[in-house]
Amino acid sequence: MRVGVAGLGRMGRPMAARLIAAGHEVTVWNRSPGKADGLDATFAATPRDLADRAEVVVTMLADDAASDAVHRGEDGLFAGKLAHTFLEMGTVSPGHIRNLDATTRAMVIDAPVSGSTPQAQGGTLKIMAGATEDELTHLRPILDVLGDRIEALGDRGRAAVMKIAVNMLIHGMNQTLAEALALTDAAGLDRTRAFDIIAGSAAGAPMLAYRRPLYLDEAAHDVTFALALARKDMDLALALAEGFAVAMPQSATTRDRLATAEAAGFGARDMAAILAHERGET
Ligand code: NAP
Repeated sequence: MRVGVAGLGRMGRPMAARLIAAGHEVTVWNRSPGKADGLDATFAATPRDLADRAEVVVTMLADDAASDAVHRGEDGLFAGKLAHTFLEMGTVSPGHIRNLDATTRAMVIDAPVSGSTPQAQGGTLKIMAGATEDELTHLRPILDVLGDRIEALGDRGRAAVMKIAVNMLIHGMNQTLAEALALTDAAGLDRTRAFDIIAGSAAGAPMLAYRRPLYLDEAAHDVTFALALARKDMDLALALAEGFAVAMPQSATTRDRLATAEAAGFGARDMAAILAHERGET
């Protein structure tokens, strides 16, 4: 299939690499061109050029503003001629998805993912889609290369809501884990042993296993999920909750701690850096 991928960040690049390896005819575009180096794909000059060359466009962009600029900006994806389906796989708001879908005659589907860079590399992402099973049929050759579990949630925007709900737990756990380790550190327990006991307990979760190196020595490892994007996720969650008049006091605290860490210069570091922040380190 002719597939376009816009957004070659930490997640988008390994996803594009998997689509190339699976034999799709892939065209890529990224705001900063160097990110495509080494990929066996055509580099489009603009998002419009990308959409001219692809039947299906996958976007993996930072946030609503980035996604809006790439879809609806001058020479944006929606100005292209060929693409009939746009899969927005970044974590964005449901309102943004509905706005995009209303702007074009093509189909815009929210298809955010759970999992991080190892899962993007291995094709084991959990994909939530704001579409019916029928609507996903022609997309299976793409989705099955990227993920090993695909949830068709029906209406546009539902997957965006679901993804935000999942990340409330991820970021809440990140915060509580940081506090727990700050406490065990202060009480003189060995960090590695304390982490492994938590990870092996009833509180253990898959993300503790694959993010273990970052919690044990964040500075020694590449960023997999920037702290600023975690704050963005919590902003999305709180805005959504406000719209439904749902109280989320714990999530508000998680958001505030992330924002405080970001203001202190931690935004580009991995979200595990919240541990260093809670410990008063730089
Ligand atoms: P990332 O490495 O920071 O990449 C962000 C991408 O968005 C880059 O390609 C960047 O282009 C592009 N971008 C940002 N602002 C833009 C703008 N105004 N116009 C055009 N392009 C713009 O982020 P990531 O970790 O891959 O995450 C991408 C999305 O997936 C986010 O919504 C994130 O929340 C979500 N997500 C991430 C993970 C994870 O573990 N990392 C897991 C699940 C979901 P440049 O290269 O030019 O900056």
